[in-house]
Amino acid sequence: MAKLIDGKLLAEDVISTVKSETEKLVAATKVTPGIAVVIVGEDPASQVYVASKGRKAKECGFHSVQHTLAETATEQELLALIDELNNDPAIHGILVQLPLPKHIDESLVIQAINPDKDVDGFHYINVGKLGAGDAASAFVPCTPAGAMIMIERQHGHDLSGLTAVVIGRSNIVGKPMFNLLLSANATVTVAHSRTKNLEDLARSADILVAAVGRPQMVKGDWVKPGATVIDVGINRIPAPEKGEGKTRLVGDVDFDSAEKVAGAITPVPGGVGPMTIAMLMANTLVAACRAAKVPAPKF
Ligand code: NDP
Repeated sequence: MAKLIDGKLLAEDVISTVKSETEKLVAATKVTPGIAVVIVGEDPASQVYVASKGRKAKECGFHSVQHTLAETATEQELLALIDELNNDPAIHGILVQLPLPKHIDESLVIQAINPDKDVDGFHYINVGKLGAGDAASAFVPCTPAGAMIMIERQHGHDLSGLTAVVIGRSNIVGKPMFNLLLSANATVTVAHSRTKNLEDLARSADILVAAVGRPQMVKGDWVKPGATVIDVGINRIPAPEKGEGKTRLVGDVDFDSAEKVAGAITPVPGGVGPMTIAMLMANTLVAACRAAKVPAPKF
């Protein structure tokens, strides 16, 4: 049976470092990390995510503000708000909750964020830094950054000689995950919907990351015995066993069959998910340290 990688525990570890480092920063510089979360419209899932980010920021001792714009807000209104936040010295991290309504150009909005406040790591400056091997000065997207900490806990910081396969090539997860693994000296392949013989490829991986959005796609016989399996997927499926109309969350990995083969595996829920929000707090603290011109903690 695989070892369970407990994302909740690891996330608590990150949050406790963020809290203590925040206290030190405030004591030394009087700078309190500030995060602004911007949401447009009333998508219930986005509201839940935004609320939990705000709660976590307060728990960390941050100054936290939320800006809620109506579904009908114009691109100009949103850009004006971003400009205001870019120029607000009390705000070190700006997060625009995605997706945005269709009439707003998402890319235009993200690229308008000051790269020094881009704690989501989506601005091209940060994407470029990570791609050029300068993860230390970039903001790295929170989900792959959290997944990478989980991998480092299993294998250390140097993945020399290990083979990694990332299934999924999104800008939010797959591509930055590739760059992080490559920077740590793993030999990395990125698979996607056009990949042939995916099962054989997956079976070659010492480290297998699934970021696909397809419930329980990766089966136990896709996993190399002893491999580390990181399941990024969050999918809601019907759960009639819990009652009529009930649902449950599952990952992109078929946990029950994979845990029999893997060496270590993340559960869903309670795996990569909690790490994502913890890394958002870590990135905001780092942004505040940079603004205050003091060395930032490493996570
Ligand atoms: P995207 O939909 O942006 O990307 C999915 C990727 O999977 C694409 O590259 C796609 O290939 C590939 N893919 C789709 N079908 C197949 C297939 N049959 N075989 C191989 N590859 C396939 O998703 P995200 O990267 O945004 O998210 C992936 C998953 O992670 C989702 O379940 C999402 O909910 C979850 N997630 C979880 C987070 C967390 O905090 N834990 C945060 C972000 C996402 P192609 O490019 O060819 O279309």
